[in-house]
Amino acid sequence: METAQHILTEADIWTVLESVKDPEIPVLSLIDMGMITHVSCLTSHVSRLSAHITMTPTFVGCPALSVMKKDIYDAVKKMGFDEVEVIIDMETAWTSDRMKPEAKLKLEKFGIAPPAMMEEDMTAELLDRVRCPHCGSTDTTLRSSFGSTLCRAIRFCFTCRQGFEQFKPI
Ligand SMILES: [Zn+2]
Repeated sequence: METAQHILTEADIWTVLESVKDPEIPVLSLIDMGMITHVSCLTSHVSRLSAHITMTPTFVGCPALSVMKKDIYDAVKKMGFDEVEVIIDMETAWTSDRMKPEAKLKLEKFGIAPPAMMEEDMTAELLDRVRCPHCGSTDTTLRSSFGSTLCRAIRFCFTCRQGFEQFKPI
């Protein structure tokens, strides 16, 4: 039997997931965040098409997790899959190093200082040299370890005298 339907591939799933945004940072997709660890699609013997998406949450117990799972499910289901399964990856620990470089640029434009790369020789002093997203100065200081979400800290810039949020490196 001929079908006019486009054959869905894993690449199509990746493309659709580009449009699923982090609920806490609407300028970044879950792919920008490096949260999607694996995508696969299968056709069963009864021609049922199923998609499996594996993701690693940024923070364990992040309240946005159920929202993200539902957003992924809805976006992929809409593509025409019979079954969609969103699996939490327990083996891959998310770290801020998984964020793509262009994601960090988007984050800074959005007004949130991106996390520094967690290198092995990273010193406390280097970690504290966070660039202000408003003026670019690194003369900033930590004001509070917790910002509007668990993933963010509040900092203050001495140069432009404005507060800003930083996505914490983890
Ligand atoms: Zn500043």
